[in-house]
Amino acid sequence: MAVLSGNRETMNSMLSATNQNWKMNVFYISLGMGAFLMFGGRYFGDLFSIAHPAYINIAGVLIGLISFFVACVSIKCPDCKDKWFWRAVSKSKSGDWLFWLKSQISGPACKQGANNGT
Ligand SMILES: [Zn+2]
Repeated sequence: MAVLSGNRETMNSMLSATNQNWKMNVFYISLGMGAFLMFGGRYFGDLFSIAHPAYINIAGVLIGLISFFVACVSIKCPDCKDKWFWRAVSKSKSGDWLFWLKSQISGPACKQGANNGT
């Protein structure tokens, strides 16, 4: 996991330089909540005697989709508005997009925004 590979990349990354790491944390938490509801829907349905527990699963899916969408539109370059999260998901090979996103030092589109040496 990229998270475990030390502070160097997170300290110097474009995400921390532009104070957008918290958006990633919000994304993780809301995605976790969505998965929790998605897989726990039947359990909560029994626990609270909900007639249609499938709605809980659907709510979990929706929370996951919304958190993904919010991350796509909100995590972006402050200079050129390049959508970093979306770029990572759509351009990187599946599996290493998160590492790619967290290890970028400057904006991939404009090479500005983070630690550009000035
Ligand atoms: Zn940029």
